Amino acid sequence: MNGRLFKIAGCSGAGKDTLIAKFLEKNPGVERSISVTTRQPRRGEKDGADYFFTSKDEFKKSADSGEFLEWAEFCGNFYGTKKSIVQKALEKGRDLILKIEVQGAKQIKEKMPEAKSIFIMPPSLKVLEERLRNRHTDSEEDVLKRLKAAEAEIEAGRKFDYTIINDTIENALEKLQNIFDKK
Ligand code: 5GP
Repeated sequence: MNGRLFKIAGCSGAGKDTLIAKFLEKNPGVERSISVTTRQPRRGEKDGADYFFTSKDEFKKSADSGEFLEWAEFCGNFYGTKKSIVQKALEKGRDLILKIEVQGAKQIKEKMPEAKSIFIMPPSLKVLEERLRNRHTDSEEDVLKRLKAAEAEIEAGRKFDYTIINDTIENALEKLQNIFDKK
């Protein structure tokens, strides 16, 4: 049987990365797709593990040759999901998580309507702002861009199949587990 595809979106700073990492630790049978991006690596991020980091030219070439299942521009950088990664995981019968922003999630909805969408919400915009600033990974300009993008993302997130409020990691993990455990 083919694996299932889950799209996880949520504004920058909502805590998707931590949540997904903890979920994968508990669920070794589930995989996460590694995306291609033109963003600069943050401190500690590794090429091929966190993202495949690439130039805008290379990204455009890959997009033109149809390598991406979806791609989008977010805060001045490009992000895309490789078709090959998705195909391989699903054919092996593995459930796959795509960490994705809302425009990409919409594109996948058109191509693979069976994929479930999950939106991770911060408890409030104030908490979101604190998290973005406290992680010290983005410049002030980037923090402001991401906060601006957050409002539109939250609006788009209303159309998702599930919403999880990331108030505490334990609560959010339990809710995510319940979604995956539904057959
Ligand atoms: P960040 O720069 O914080 O790692 O990611 C910025 C946004 O891009 C996040 O919302 C993240 O989920 C999203 N993103 C990461 N990979 C992809 C992808 O392959 N496609 C799309 N459309 N968005 C992605």
